[in-house]
Amino acid sequence: MVVSARGAERLRCGGGPEHVARTDIKKPPPLGSGDVVELRDEAGKFLASALWAQFGPIAARVWDRNGRELNRQVLVERIAAANARRQQLFADGAVQRDAYRVVHGEADMLPGLLVDRYADVAVVQTATAAMDVRKPLIAEVLVEVLQVSQVLCRDDGSARDLEGLPRQRGVLHGPKGASTRVRFHDAGSLMESDLLAARKTGSFLDQQENHAAVATYAARLFAAPRQSVRALDCFSFHGGFALALARAGLSVTACDEDSAAIEQARQNAALNRVAVDFRVANAFDLLRSLESSGARFDVVVLDPPALAKRGRSRGHAPSRLDADSAWQRAYKELNLRALRLLSPGGLLCTCSCSGRVSESEFGALIESAVRDAGRTQPRSWQIIERRGAGRDHPVLIGWPESEYLKCWLLRALR
Ligand code: SAH
Repeated sequence: MVVSARGAERLRCGGGPEHVARTDIKKPPPLGSGDVVELRDEAGKFLASALWAQFGPIAARVWDRNGRELNRQVLVERIAAANARRQQLFADGAVQRDAYRVVHGEADMLPGLLVDRYADVAVVQTATAAMDVRKPLIAEVLVEVLQVSQVLCRDDGSARDLEGLPRQRGVLHGPKGASTRVRFHDAGSLMESDLLAARKTGSFLDQQENHAAVATYAARLFAAPRQSVRALDCFSFHGGFALALARAGLSVTACDEDSAAIEQARQNAALNRVAVDFRVANAFDLLRSLESSGARFDVVVLDPPALAKRGRSRGHAPSRLDADSAWQRAYKELNLRALRLLSPGGLLCTCSCSGRVSESEFGALIESAVRDAGRTQPRSWQIIERRGAGRDHPVLIGWPESEYLKCWLLRALR
């Protein structure tokens, strides 16, 4: 398969996702989706073997520079290497990590493959036809490499739409009729989730290290005992932030609009023997009513779903706000209300999981919220730390969208 001069040049340099756009493929021969193909430059020189996709703007993803096939042996090597890289990073032993992302697609040289581990269950997501058609083989390899007893498939997300793959979920390996509810640890909290039913692959593993970080900062900023230190977790899901803060001794109120998520969060609080005031509520409404009742919090966590959806182009440095943009208005309103609720010296943990929102745009939104909040109560705010997804979700240099999660910690000066 011949790649245009422009496409070949990009591949030679490496960096970023090693993708070939369909427009850079010259006269594609008839192929099946998921086939492994040889990429050559216009002079016929071999570039790499790649995974072919029949549909979508990305025609080929580099698989191997030495031309190896996508077979059992290479899968075993790459998945074992990805797992070993996680173990090296977690070796500080700070918290128990029995739930983590084992494989993060292109960033682990396994294009279109995501694998999460929860205790002795692995959950697979595939975003490309090449990985999709090999799910039975991938499940076998996961059982061998990770020694898991069950492998589930959560191919029910929007990442599948790019190549027109159908959405589906199910059991790839394991005893028939076995429960898919699993117990695992999240930032030291004991959690339970139904990995086939709950959002994503059952939990937001990318936020685990941020759950721990917020609780650590809260413990440093506020002296024990902390029953009178109040925290609010606005998009709590199964209680990742709320439980970490409650275990640090704070009095926590948390909400989510999804009643099934809150039911699980309540069970998780019981597992950890902590009391959290969990409410089924729309966060925007709750923030408004707390503000009008004059409530104050020492810690506020905002972790909304991706308010900026796919489809809009991501600029590299737009730091101006657009008054007509609904998603910008929503992020700003959340942050403005949270800033108003915070007591002097308070801690704000504000997140955006939208790959479409750059760091500079996020910063501009927060700055704008700080200015508006200052109209009624002028205050200065420090950024203590700018965090991203956990270390098991590595960012690929040259692929800005892979740096999707922003988690900033701000502190109000008295
Ligand atoms: N903070 C969680 C992840 C949150 S994901 C963690 O760290 O694990 C976003 C959550 O926001 C989802 O659980 C979703 O149900 C909830 N949600 C979406 N819109 C909401 C709204 N308007 N009010 C409250 N919750 C909302």
